[in-house]
Amino acid sequence: MLQPALLGGRPAFGTRVPLAEPTLPLSDVLAEELRAVLDSKMLTNGSWVATLERVAAEYLDVNHVVAVSSCSVGLILVLKCLGLTGEVIMPSFTFCATGHAALWNGLEPVFCDCEPDTMNIDPGHAASLVGPRTAAIMGVHVFGAPCNLDDLGLLATRHSLPLVIDAAHAFGSRVAGAPVGAQGAAQVYSLSPTKVLVAGEGGLIATNDGTLAAQLRTARNYGHDGDYDCQMAGINGRLAEINALLAAAGLRYLESNLARRLRLVSEYRAGLADIPGIGFQSVRECDRSTYKDFTITVCPSEFGLDRDQLAAYLDSEGVASRRYFYPPLHEQRVYKDRLRSVRPSLPATERVSRQVLTLPLYSHMPRETVDMICDLIRAAHANRRALARVIRSGRSQGGSSVGVSAAVSAV
Ligand SMILES: *Cc1c(COP(=O)(O)O)cnc(C)c1O
Repeated sequence: MLQPALLGGRPAFGTRVPLAEPTLPLSDVLAEELRAVLDSKMLTNGSWVATLERVAAEYLDVNHVVAVSSCSVGLILVLKCLGLTGEVIMPSFTFCATGHAALWNGLEPVFCDCEPDTMNIDPGHAASLVGPRTAAIMGVHVFGAPCNLDDLGLLATRHSLPLVIDAAHAFGSRVAGAPVGAQGAAQVYSLSPTKVLVAGEGGLIATNDGTLAAQLRTARNYGHDGDYDCQMAGINGRLAEINALLAAAGLRYLESNLARRLRLVSEYRAGLADIPGIGFQSVRECDRSTYKDFTITVCPSEFGLDRDQLAAYLDSEGVASRRYFYPPLHEQRVYKDRLRSVRPSLPATERVSRQVLTLPLYSHMPRETVDMICDLIRAAHANRRALARVIRSGRSQGGSSVGVSAAVSAV
Protein backbone atom coordinates (compact mmCIF):
# COMPACT_ATOMS: atom_id res chain seq x y z
CA MET A 1 0.00 0.00 0.00
CA LEU A 2 1.18 3.50 -0.90
CA GLN A 3 2.50 5.72 1.86
CA PRO A 4 0.83 9.13 1.27
CA ALA A 5 3.16 12.12 0.90
CA LEU A 6 1.10 13.95 3.54
CA LEU A 7 1.99 11.15 5.99
CA GLY A 8 5.71 11.15 5.25
CA GLY A 9 5.93 9.21 1.96
CA ARG A 10 7.23 10.48 -1.36
CA PRO A 11 4.80 12.10 -3.82
CA ALA A 12 3.62 9.53 -6.36
CA PHE A 13 4.40 11.84 -9.29
CA GLY A 14 7.62 13.85 -9.50
CA THR A 15 6.27 15.59 -12.61
CA ARG A 16 2.81 16.95 -12.04
CA VAL A 17 -0.05 15.23 -13.90
CA PRO A 18 -2.04 18.00 -15.58
CA LEU A 19 -5.82 18.05 -15.57
CA ALA A 20 -6.00 18.23 -19.35
CA GLU A 21 -3.68 18.62 -22.30
CA PRO A 22 -4.58 19.08 -25.95
CA THR A 23 -3.74 16.10 -28.13
CA LEU A 24 -2.26 17.85 -31.15
CA PRO A 25 -1.12 16.59 -34.54
CA LEU A 26 2.68 16.45 -34.73
CA SER A 27 4.06 19.76 -35.88
CA ASP A 28 5.90 18.20 -38.86
CA VAL A 29 2.58 16.79 -40.11
CA LEU A 30 1.18 20.31 -40.21
CA ALA A 31 4.32 22.16 -41.29
CA GLU A 32 3.44 22.24 -44.99
CA GLU A 33 -0.15 23.35 -44.46
CA LEU A 34 0.93 26.01 -41.96
CA ARG A 35 3.53 27.33 -44.39
CA ALA A 36 0.88 27.51 -47.12
CA VAL A 37 -1.38 29.63 -44.87
CA LEU A 38 1.48 32.01 -44.08
CA ASP A 39 2.55 32.21 -47.73
CA SER A 40 -1.02 32.95 -48.82
CA LYS A 41 -1.07 36.02 -46.53
CA MET A 42 -4.76 35.20 -45.90
CA LEU A 43 -4.89 34.91 -42.11
CA THR A 44 -8.65 35.36 -41.92
CA ASN A 45 -11.61 34.80 -44.28
CA GLY A 46 -9.59 32.20 -46.19
CA SER A 47 -10.14 28.62 -47.26
CA TRP A 48 -9.45 26.79 -43.98
CA VAL A 49 -12.48 28.21 -42.19
CA ALA A 50 -14.65 27.16 -45.15
CA THR A 51 -13.03 23.69 -45.13
CA LEU A 52 -13.54 23.29 -41.39
CA GLU A 53 -17.19 24.33 -41.69
CA ARG A 54 -17.73 21.78 -44.46
CA VAL A 55 -16.04 18.80 -42.76
CA ALA A 56 -17.64 19.63 -39.40
CA ALA A 57 -21.11 19.80 -41.02
CA GLU A 58 -20.48 16.38 -42.58
CA TYR A 59 -19.27 14.93 -39.29
CA LEU A 60 -22.21 16.39 -37.33
CA ASP A 61 -24.73 15.62 -40.08
CA VAL A 62 -26.19 19.15 -40.10
CA ASN A 63 -26.94 21.55 -42.94
CA HIS A 64 -24.85 24.47 -41.68
CA VAL A 65 -21.81 25.02 -39.50
CA VAL A 66 -20.67 28.57 -38.77
CA ALA A 67 -17.18 28.92 -37.30
CA VAL A 68 -16.64 31.62 -34.68
CA SER A 69 -13.83 32.86 -32.48
CA SER A 70 -15.08 31.03 -29.37
CA CYS A 71 -18.04 29.11 -28.03
CA SER A 72 -18.82 32.10 -25.78
CA VAL A 73 -19.16 34.37 -28.81
CA GLY A 74 -21.15 31.67 -30.63
CA LEU A 75 -23.69 31.40 -27.80
CA ILE A 76 -23.98 35.19 -27.55
CA LEU A 77 -24.58 35.50 -31.30
CA VAL A 78 -27.14 32.68 -31.44
CA LEU A 79 -29.24 34.29 -28.70
CA LYS A 80 -28.85 37.68 -30.40
CA CYS A 81 -29.84 36.43 -33.86
CA LEU A 82 -32.90 34.68 -32.41
CA GLY A 83 -34.03 38.16 -31.29
CA LEU A 84 -35.09 37.12 -27.81
CA THR A 85 -36.36 39.16 -24.86
CA GLY A 86 -37.28 37.93 -21.39
CA GLU A 87 -36.13 34.83 -19.56
CA VAL A 88 -33.98 31.88 -20.57
CA ILE A 89 -34.32 28.61 -18.67
CA MET A 90 -30.90 26.99 -18.22
CA PRO A 91 -29.05 24.72 -15.80
CA SER A 92 -27.10 26.23 -12.93
CA PHE A 93 -24.70 23.28 -13.00
CA THR A 94 -22.68 24.50 -15.98
CA PHE A 95 -19.75 26.70 -16.96
CA CYS A 96 -20.24 30.44 -16.54
CA ALA A 97 -20.28 31.11 -20.31
CA THR A 98 -23.76 29.53 -20.63
CA GLY A 99 -25.25 32.14 -18.33
CA HIS A 100 -23.11 35.00 -19.59
CA ALA A 101 -24.52 34.53 -23.12
CA ALA A 102 -27.95 35.44 -21.70
CA LEU A 103 -26.63 38.42 -19.72
CA TRP A 104 -24.79 39.82 -22.77
CA ASN A 105 -28.16 39.87 -24.54
CA GLY A 106 -30.05 41.49 -21.68
CA LEU A 107 -31.85 38.21 -21.04
CA GLU A 108 -32.60 36.90 -17.58
CA PRO A 109 -31.33 33.43 -16.69
CA VAL A 110 -33.84 31.25 -14.82
CA PHE A 111 -31.92 28.44 -13.22
CA CYS A 112 -33.10 24.86 -13.48
CA ASP A 113 -31.95 21.93 -11.36
CA CYS A 114 -29.88 19.04 -12.72
CA GLU A 115 -30.60 15.34 -12.58
CA PRO A 116 -28.42 13.93 -9.79
CA ASP A 117 -27.21 10.96 -11.87
CA THR A 118 -26.59 12.47 -15.33
CA MET A 119 -25.74 15.93 -13.90
CA ASN A 120 -27.68 17.35 -16.90
CA ILE A 121 -30.62 19.76 -16.90
CA ASP A 122 -33.78 18.13 -15.50
CA PRO A 123 -36.50 18.46 -18.19
CA GLY A 124 -39.27 17.96 -15.62
CA HIS A 125 -38.04 20.88 -13.54
CA ALA A 126 -37.52 22.95 -16.70
CA ALA A 127 -41.20 22.39 -17.62
CA SER A 128 -42.25 23.77 -14.23
CA LEU A 129 -40.26 26.97 -14.86
CA VAL A 130 -41.89 27.92 -18.18
CA GLY A 131 -43.88 31.12 -17.79
CA PRO A 132 -45.18 34.06 -19.82
CA ARG A 133 -41.72 35.68 -20.05
CA THR A 134 -39.84 32.55 -21.12
CA ALA A 135 -37.99 33.25 -24.37
CA ALA A 136 -35.83 30.16 -24.79
CA ILE A 137 -34.55 26.98 -23.18
CA MET A 138 -30.83 26.27 -23.00
CA GLY A 139 -29.38 22.82 -22.40
CA VAL A 140 -25.77 21.83 -21.84
CA HIS A 141 -24.15 18.46 -22.60
CA VAL A 142 -22.32 18.35 -19.27
CA PHE A 143 -18.82 16.82 -19.66
CA GLY A 144 -19.96 15.52 -23.05
CA ALA A 145 -22.88 13.41 -21.80
CA PRO A 146 -25.83 14.37 -24.02
CA CYS A 147 -28.64 16.12 -22.14
CA ASN A 148 -32.17 14.81 -22.68
CA LEU A 149 -32.73 16.29 -26.14
CA ASP A 150 -36.01 14.40 -26.68
CA ASP A 151 -37.77 15.79 -23.61
CA LEU A 152 -36.26 19.27 -23.95
CA GLY A 153 -37.22 19.31 -27.63
CA LEU A 154 -40.82 18.35 -26.84
CA LEU A 155 -41.03 20.99 -24.11
CA ALA A 156 -39.64 23.67 -26.45
CA THR A 157 -42.03 22.69 -29.27
CA ARG A 158 -45.03 22.61 -26.94
CA HIS A 159 -44.39 26.24 -25.95
CA SER A 160 -42.99 27.39 -29.34
CA LEU A 161 -39.63 28.23 -27.76
CA PRO A 162 -36.21 27.84 -29.34
CA LEU A 163 -33.95 25.22 -27.77
CA VAL A 164 -30.31 26.35 -27.78
CA ILE A 165 -27.62 23.91 -26.73
CA ASP A 166 -24.27 24.74 -25.19
CA ALA A 167 -22.42 21.82 -26.75
CA ALA A 168 -18.99 23.11 -25.69
CA HIS A 169 -18.01 19.63 -24.42
CA ALA A 170 -19.79 17.57 -27.00
CA PHE A 171 -18.06 17.55 -30.38
CA GLY A 172 -18.12 13.78 -30.91
CA SER A 173 -20.97 12.97 -28.50
CA ARG A 174 -23.76 10.77 -29.83
CA VAL A 175 -27.42 10.16 -29.03
CA ALA A 176 -28.70 6.76 -30.00
CA GLY A 177 -25.89 6.46 -32.53
CA ALA A 178 -26.30 9.88 -34.17
CA PRO A 179 -24.05 12.87 -33.51
CA VAL A 180 -25.43 15.63 -31.31
CA GLY A 181 -25.81 18.73 -33.49
CA ALA A 182 -29.04 18.70 -35.47
CA GLN A 183 -31.38 18.87 -32.46
CA GLY A 184 -32.84 22.21 -31.36
CA ALA A 185 -32.34 25.61 -33.01
CA ALA A 186 -28.55 25.49 -32.71
CA GLN A 187 -25.74 23.72 -30.88
CA VAL A 188 -22.51 25.54 -30.09
CA TYR A 189 -19.17 23.75 -29.63
CA SER A 190 -15.93 25.03 -28.13
CA LEU A 191 -12.50 24.43 -29.67
CA SER A 192 -10.49 25.87 -26.77
CA PRO A 193 -7.41 23.97 -25.53
CA THR A 194 -9.11 21.95 -22.77
CA LYS A 195 -11.82 20.63 -25.08
CA VAL A 196 -11.54 17.43 -27.12
CA LEU A 197 -11.31 19.01 -30.59
CA VAL A 198 -8.89 21.91 -30.36
CA ALA A 199 -8.27 25.01 -32.51
CA GLY A 200 -6.35 26.97 -29.86
CA GLU A 201 -9.37 29.22 -29.48
CA GLY A 202 -12.53 28.83 -31.50
CA GLY A 203 -16.12 27.70 -31.69
CA LEU A 204 -18.53 26.06 -34.11
CA ILE A 205 -22.27 26.66 -34.41
CA ALA A 206 -24.32 23.82 -35.92
CA THR A 207 -27.84 24.44 -37.19
CA ASN A 208 -30.29 23.16 -39.79
CA ASP A 209 -31.87 26.63 -40.02
CA GLY A 210 -30.52 28.36 -43.12
CA THR A 211 -31.89 31.77 -42.14
CA LEU A 212 -30.24 31.58 -38.72
CA ALA A 213 -26.95 30.45 -40.29
CA ALA A 214 -26.98 33.44 -42.69
CA GLN A 215 -27.69 35.85 -39.81
CA LEU A 216 -24.86 34.32 -37.80
CA ARG A 217 -22.43 34.85 -40.71
CA THR A 218 -23.44 38.51 -40.80
CA ALA A 219 -23.27 38.82 -37.03
CA ARG A 220 -19.73 37.42 -36.79
CA ASN A 221 -18.60 39.93 -39.44
CA TYR A 222 -19.43 43.14 -37.52
CA GLY A 223 -23.03 42.93 -38.76
CA HIS A 224 -22.52 43.38 -42.50
CA ASP A 225 -22.22 41.04 -45.48
CA GLY A 226 -19.18 42.67 -47.04
CA ASP A 227 -20.84 45.92 -48.13
CA TYR A 228 -20.08 47.79 -44.87
CA ASP A 229 -23.77 48.67 -44.58
CA CYS A 230 -24.39 47.10 -41.18
CA GLN A 231 -27.78 45.49 -40.59
CA MET A 232 -27.09 44.88 -36.91
CA ALA A 233 -24.55 45.55 -34.18
CA GLY A 234 -22.40 42.54 -34.94
CA ILE A 235 -18.96 41.76 -33.64
CA ASN A 236 -15.67 40.46 -34.94
CA GLY A 237 -16.42 36.84 -34.11
CA ARG A 238 -14.39 35.30 -36.90
CA LEU A 239 -12.20 32.24 -36.48
CA ALA A 240 -8.63 32.78 -37.73
CA GLU A 241 -7.25 30.57 -40.51
CA ILE A 242 -4.44 29.02 -38.46
CA ASN A 243 -6.92 28.04 -35.77
CA ALA A 244 -9.26 26.56 -38.37
CA LEU A 245 -6.37 24.55 -39.81
CA LEU A 246 -5.57 23.11 -36.36
CA ALA A 247 -9.18 22.06 -35.80
CA ALA A 248 -9.58 20.59 -39.30
CA ALA A 249 -6.39 18.56 -38.75
CA GLY A 250 -7.62 17.51 -35.30
CA LEU A 251 -10.88 16.28 -36.77
CA ARG A 252 -8.93 13.63 -38.73
CA TYR A 253 -7.77 12.13 -35.41
CA LEU A 254 -10.92 12.78 -33.40
CA GLU A 255 -12.39 9.27 -33.53
CA SER A 256 -9.13 7.58 -32.55
CA ASN A 257 -8.61 10.12 -29.74
CA LEU A 258 -12.15 9.54 -28.48
CA ALA A 259 -11.59 5.77 -28.52
CA ARG A 260 -8.47 6.25 -26.38
CA ARG A 261 -10.37 8.50 -23.97
CA LEU A 262 -13.18 5.99 -23.60
CA ARG A 263 -10.66 3.22 -22.83
CA LEU A 264 -9.05 5.42 -20.16
CA VAL A 265 -12.48 6.15 -18.66
CA SER A 266 -13.23 2.39 -18.47
CA GLU A 267 -9.90 1.96 -16.72
CA TYR A 268 -10.78 4.73 -14.24
CA ARG A 269 -14.25 3.31 -13.59
CA ALA A 270 -12.93 -0.21 -13.04
CA GLY A 271 -10.16 1.07 -10.78
CA LEU A 272 -12.48 3.21 -8.63
CA ALA A 273 -15.67 1.13 -8.72
CA ASP A 274 -15.43 -0.55 -5.32
CA ILE A 275 -14.07 2.41 -3.33
CA PRO A 276 -16.79 3.49 -0.85
CA GLY A 277 -18.20 6.96 -1.47
CA ILE A 278 -16.86 7.42 -5.02
CA GLY A 279 -19.60 7.91 -7.65
CA PHE A 280 -19.74 8.53 -11.40
CA GLN A 281 -21.80 10.61 -13.79
CA SER A 282 -24.19 8.30 -15.60
CA VAL A 283 -24.38 8.29 -19.38
CA ARG A 284 -27.39 6.62 -21.01
CA GLU A 285 -26.54 3.21 -22.49
CA CYS A 286 -27.50 4.30 -26.03
CA ASP A 287 -25.46 7.53 -25.88
CA ARG A 288 -21.77 8.32 -26.22
CA SER A 289 -20.01 10.97 -24.14
CA THR A 290 -16.77 12.59 -25.25
CA TYR A 291 -15.70 12.66 -21.59
CA LYS A 292 -14.38 16.13 -22.13
CA ASP A 293 -13.99 15.77 -18.36
CA PHE A 294 -13.93 12.70 -16.17
CA THR A 295 -15.71 13.86 -13.04
CA ILE A 296 -16.31 11.75 -9.94
CA THR A 297 -18.43 12.51 -6.90
CA VAL A 298 -17.04 12.18 -3.40
CA CYS A 299 -19.54 11.40 -0.64
CA PRO A 300 -17.70 12.54 2.50
CA SER A 301 -19.53 10.29 4.98
CA GLU A 302 -18.75 7.15 2.97
CA PHE A 303 -15.33 8.03 1.59
CA GLY A 304 -14.03 9.51 4.83
CA LEU A 305 -12.66 12.71 3.23
CA ASP A 306 -14.58 15.46 1.52
CA ARG A 307 -14.02 16.55 -2.06
CA ASP A 308 -11.68 19.42 -1.10
CA GLN A 309 -9.64 17.16 1.18
CA LEU A 310 -9.26 14.63 -1.63
CA ALA A 311 -8.16 17.48 -3.97
CA ALA A 312 -5.55 18.61 -1.42
CA TYR A 313 -4.29 15.05 -1.04
CA LEU A 314 -4.05 14.54 -4.83
CA ASP A 315 -2.22 17.84 -5.13
CA SER A 316 0.34 16.67 -2.58
CA GLU A 317 0.89 13.56 -4.73
CA GLY A 318 1.45 15.66 -7.88
CA VAL A 319 -2.02 15.18 -9.39
CA ALA A 320 -4.10 18.13 -10.61
CA SER A 321 -7.86 18.09 -10.09
CA ARG A 322 -10.61 20.67 -10.38
CA ARG A 323 -14.07 21.38 -9.00
CA TYR A 324 -16.12 21.36 -12.22
CA PHE A 325 -18.66 22.98 -11.72
CA TYR A 326 -18.38 24.81 -8.44
CA PRO A 327 -19.77 27.21 -7.48
CA PRO A 328 -22.86 26.60 -9.60
CA LEU A 329 -24.10 29.69 -11.47
CA HIS A 330 -26.83 30.64 -9.01
CA GLU A 331 -24.20 30.88 -6.25
CA GLN A 332 -21.75 33.04 -8.24
CA ARG A 333 -21.70 36.72 -7.37
CA VAL A 334 -22.70 37.98 -10.80
CA TYR A 335 -25.89 35.89 -10.72
CA LYS A 336 -26.60 35.85 -6.99
CA ASP A 337 -26.90 39.63 -6.97
CA ARG A 338 -29.63 39.45 -9.61
CA LEU A 339 -31.49 36.67 -7.84
CA ARG A 340 -31.69 38.38 -4.46
CA SER A 341 -35.47 38.37 -4.35
CA VAL A 342 -35.97 34.81 -5.64
CA ARG A 343 -33.38 32.33 -4.52
CA PRO A 344 -34.01 29.23 -6.61
CA SER A 345 -34.39 25.86 -4.97
CA LEU A 346 -31.89 23.60 -6.68
CA PRO A 347 -31.19 20.74 -4.27
CA ALA A 348 -29.53 18.35 -6.75
CA THR A 349 -27.30 21.11 -8.16
CA GLU A 350 -26.21 22.12 -4.67
CA ARG A 351 -25.40 18.57 -3.63
CA VAL A 352 -23.65 17.56 -6.86
CA SER A 353 -21.60 20.76 -7.10
CA ARG A 354 -20.28 20.17 -3.56
CA GLN A 355 -19.24 16.59 -4.33
CA VAL A 356 -17.73 16.81 -7.82
CA LEU A 357 -14.04 16.48 -8.53
CA THR A 358 -12.65 16.31 -12.05
CA LEU A 359 -9.64 14.01 -12.45
CA PRO A 360 -6.91 14.26 -15.11
CA LEU A 361 -7.87 12.99 -18.55
CA TYR A 362 -6.42 13.60 -21.99
CA SER A 363 -6.36 11.36 -25.00
CA HIS A 364 -2.62 10.63 -24.92
CA MET A 365 -2.54 10.00 -21.15
CA PRO A 366 -0.71 6.77 -20.28
CA ARG A 367 -2.91 4.02 -18.85
CA GLU A 368 -0.42 3.57 -15.98
CA THR A 369 -1.13 7.15 -14.87
CA VAL A 370 -4.82 6.33 -14.57
CA ASP A 371 -4.00 3.16 -12.61
CA MET A 372 -1.73 5.10 -10.25
CA ILE A 373 -4.40 7.79 -9.63
CA CYS A 374 -6.91 5.03 -8.79
CA ASP A 375 -4.40 3.48 -6.37
CA LEU A 376 -3.84 6.89 -4.81
CA ILE A 377 -7.58 7.41 -4.23
CA ARG A 378 -7.81 3.91 -2.73
CA ALA A 379 -4.90 4.78 -0.41
CA ALA A 380 -6.65 8.03 0.54
CA HIS A 381 -9.69 6.07 1.67
CA ALA A 382 -7.52 3.57 3.57
CA ASN A 383 -5.69 6.40 5.35
CA ARG A 384 -8.73 8.67 5.66
CA ARG A 385 -8.53 9.40 9.40
CA ALA A 386 -4.85 10.31 9.47
CA LEU A 387 -5.16 12.33 6.27
CA ALA A 388 -8.19 14.26 7.51
CA ARG A 389 -6.23 15.20 10.65
CA VAL A 390 -3.18 16.39 8.71
CA ILE A 391 -5.20 18.32 6.14
CA ARG A 392 -7.37 19.96 8.81
CA SER A 393 -4.34 21.04 10.84
CA GLY A 394 -2.67 22.28 7.63
CA ARG A 395 -5.73 24.39 6.93
CA SER A 396 -5.81 25.87 10.40
CA GLN A 397 -2.12 26.82 9.99
CA GLY A 398 -2.86 28.51 6.70
CA GLY A 399 -2.09 25.43 4.67
CA SER A 400 1.60 26.06 4.11
CA SER A 401 2.80 22.81 5.64
CA VAL A 402 0.84 20.43 3.45
CA GLY A 403 0.20 22.24 0.22
CA VAL A 404 -3.51 22.51 0.90
CA SER A 405 -3.55 26.18 0.02
CA ALA A 406 -1.92 25.37 -3.30
CA ALA A 407 -4.60 22.82 -4.09
CA VAL A 408 -7.45 25.04 -3.09
CA SER A 409 -6.16 28.05 -4.99
CA ALA A 410 -5.64 25.93 -8.08
CA VAL A 411 -9.31 24.97 -8.28
C1 LIG B 1 -15.49 25.98 -22.29
C2 LIG B 1 -16.95 26.17 -22.20
C3 LIG B 1 -17.59 27.25 -22.80
C4 LIG B 1 -16.84 28.39 -23.43
O1 LIG B 1 -16.09 28.02 -24.51
P1 LIG B 1 -15.03 29.07 -25.10
O2 LIG B 1 -14.73 28.51 -26.45
O3 LIG B 1 -13.86 29.06 -24.17
O4 LIG B 1 -15.71 30.39 -25.17
C5 LIG B 1 -18.97 27.31 -22.77
N1 LIG B 1 -19.69 26.38 -22.12
C6 LIG B 1 -19.12 25.33 -21.51
C7 LIG B 1 -19.99 24.33 -20.84
C8 LIG B 1 -17.72 25.22 -21.49
O5 LIG B 1 -17.13 24.22 -20.83
